Amino acid sequence: MNDEVTDHLLKEIYQRLMTAYGPQQWWPAPSPFEVMVGAVLTQSTAWINVEKAIDNLKAAQVLSPESIRNVSFSDLAQIIKPSGYYNVKARKLKSLAYWLGATFADNIDKMAECDTKSLREQFLSVYGIGPETADSILLYVVKKPIFVIDTYTRRIISRIGLMLKDNSYDDYQRLFMVHLKADVVIYNEYHALLVKLAKEACNKKPLCRKCCLNDICRFYKELFII
Ligand code: SF4
Repeated sequence: MNDEVTDHLLKEIYQRLMTAYGPQQWWPAPSPFEVMVGAVLTQSTAWINVEKAIDNLKAAQVLSPESIRNVSFSDLAQIIKPSGYYNVKARKLKSLAYWLGATFADNIDKMAECDTKSLREQFLSVYGIGPETADSILLYVVKKPIFVIDTYTRRIISRIGLMLKDNSYDDYQRLFMVHLKADVVIYNEYHALLVKLAKEACNKKPLCRKCCLNDICRFYKELFII
């Protein structure tokens, strides 16, 4: 698939998803630090479990960098238990809170002063922060134009038939960032719309007949030979 066709296809997918589902207005959290906590807690679990864990953090008044540093490890693990892998995630939250305190004195606005590349490298050096979590925070908290790749995005893009060199996170990210202009609003909505599509239609057993992309999807064409 040449560059022009890929450009067109990615824009077409975005327009169709926006028409079908409308703006998603992510991230669903009232404060930047809550988004950061949510980005860690959502690893390997459904969002509904994250919501329960965040409700617990709020009830226990442990939803600030300082309070996460101060609460005992075992208490924190119990508080976030609904999110699963709670011992590991408690360690990750503590690491993130200590890093935020040591690097930015808990001032999240200060992160925006760093350039995207160096801030991303700093995030990736924190225990428990991988590319997806780092990019979610960069996009949804710091408002840097970087595309978030997750399991849903990989599934949809590979089913549609957009060819990639390999199956790596970076390769998927490059696909979007080379072919779409660097725009925080578009990257924000595009990622959220792909998640919406994955939940509404393109799940493990895809409901292709109700999908707004079926006539441009290789998986559907091969399955139904249109
Ligand atoms: S047509 Fe089916 S496989 Fe293709 S994107 Fe839609 S739901 Fe997924």
